[in-house]
Amino acid sequence: MALVVQKYGGSSVGSAALIKNVAARIKRRVDAGDQVVAVVSAMGDTTDALIALARQITDEPEAREMDVLLSTGETQSSALLVMALHTLGVDAISLSGGQAGMRTDSVHRNARILAIEPKRVREEVDRGRVVIVAGFQGLTEGMDVATIGRGGSDTTAVAFAAALQARCEIYTDVDGVYTADPRLVPEARKLQDISYEEMLELASKGAKVMAPRAVELGSVYNIPILVASSTRDAPGTLIHGGVDMEGFNRVRGIAHDLDVAKITIRHVPDRPGVAAEIFEPLADAHLSVDTIVQNASEEALTDITFTLARNDLARALPHVQAVAKAIGAKDVVADEHMGKVSIVGTGIQSAPGYAARMFRVLSEAGINIEIISTSEIRITCIIPEASVDAAVRALHKAFELEKAEVADTL
Ligand code: ADP
Ligand code: ASP
Ligand code: MG
Repeated sequence: MALVVQKYGGSSVGSAALIKNVAARIKRRVDAGDQVVAVVSAMGDTTDALIALARQITDEPEAREMDVLLSTGETQSSALLVMALHTLGVDAISLSGGQAGMRTDSVHRNARILAIEPKRVREEVDRGRVVIVAGFQGLTEGMDVATIGRGGSDTTAVAFAAALQARCEIYTDVDGVYTADPRLVPEARKLQDISYEEMLELASKGAKVMAPRAVELGSVYNIPILVASSTRDAPGTLIHGGVDMEGFNRVRGIAHDLDVAKITIRHVPDRPGVAAEIFEPLADAHLSVDTIVQNASEEALTDITFTLARNDLARALPHVQAVAKAIGAKDVVADEHMGKVSIVGTGIQSAPGYAARMFRVLSEAGINIEIISTSEIRITCIIPEASVDAAVRALHKAFELEKAEVADTL
C-alpha cells in the first residue's frame, strides 16, 4: 500500500465528464490498495474567466479580494470531484487549501508556502478516505485566503507529497514532458526522465507543463515527480535527481514563451547604485524581472534593458518612468511583443558550440536576436513574438531532438 499525492490540472477536470473520468481513475488506485490524496485545479479556463470577470468590475481589483475570488475555482472542482467519487461508492472528502494545512505568507496572488500542516489530511486518509485538496490556495497567518501564483496547483501537490512523504504524480493533458511543446512541434518526443535542474530551466523559461516552483520544491525535498496523462495509460516522464544517463552531450529540450515584454531605459548615468535604484521599486511592487542586460558604458551613459511578463508591463512602466526621471536617464522605451526561446541540457556545459549553432539556426531562419542570456545548462534568445514558433521548430530540427536517445534504445 502506497500513499500517493496526485494532481489533476484544469484541462483534466474541465467538464463533468472529465471529472467523472478522474474519479474513475482514483477509484482504480484505491481498489489497487493505494491511499490517495488528490490536488485539483480549477475547471478548464475558470481562473482566466474569473480574472476577466473581475476586470469588468475594476481595473485595479484588490489582491486580497482577487484571492477570495480565484480560490473559488479550485473549491468548485474539489467538491464536484468528491461528488463523482461518492457516486462510485468511494469514501472521499474535499478540503480547501487552508483546511488541508497549507500556510502561506500574505503576498496575495503570489504567496509563498510557509508550511504544510497535514494533520487533518492524515486523519482523513487514516479513516480510509480519499482526500481532495483544492490546489493553488492556502491560508495566511491572519486567516485570509491567499493564492500561490499561476500554475500553483503543481506546487501544492509537490508540497503535500513532501509533507506526507508520499509519491507524487502530476496528471495533465499530455503524456509527459516532451522535447518541446507538442502542440507546437508535432515531432516532439516524450522524455523517459529528466533531471530537476533541466526541468527547472525548461519550466522557468516557459514549458508550462510544470510550474517552476513545484520543480524547485521537488528538488529541495528530493521528491521524484511523475508527469503523465490523465486520460491515457501511457508511461509518463519521471523528474528526478538521479544521474542523467541519457542526456550527456545533448540538448534535452526547447522551451518557449510568448508572454514577454521588454523595457529599455536609455542613457542611464553610469554610477554605482543606479541598478539598485531601478530594480528596488519593481521588487517592492512584487514585479519579477527576468533577463537584464546593461550595455557597455559610453561617455558615462549606458542603456539598461530587461524583460518581464507582458501582463506586468502596465504596472511596471510608471515605476520605471519615475526612476528614469529621478536618475536623469534620457527616456524609457517598451516593446510588448517579444518572445523567448531556450535550449536546455546538461550537455551544454560540457561541450562548446551549442550557442554558435543556436545563433546560426536562428539567423538562417531570418530571426533577429535581441537579447541573449545563459545559465550553465541553458541558452535563451529574446526574439520577436512573431518569430517564436518558427524558431522552436527550426531548433528542434537542427538539434535532432526527434531522434531517440541512447537509453531509449537500450
Ligand atoms: P494543466 O491544466 O494540467 O496544469 P497545463 O496547460 O498547465 O496543464 O500544462 C500542460 C501543457 O503544457 C500541455 O498541453 C502543453 O501544450 C504544454 N507544454 C509546454 N511545453 C511542454 C513540454 N515540453 N512537454 C509537454 N507539454 C508542454
Ligand atoms: N487554477 C490556477 C491557474 O490557472 C492554478 C493551477 O491551475 O495550477 O493558474
Ligand atoms: Mg498547469
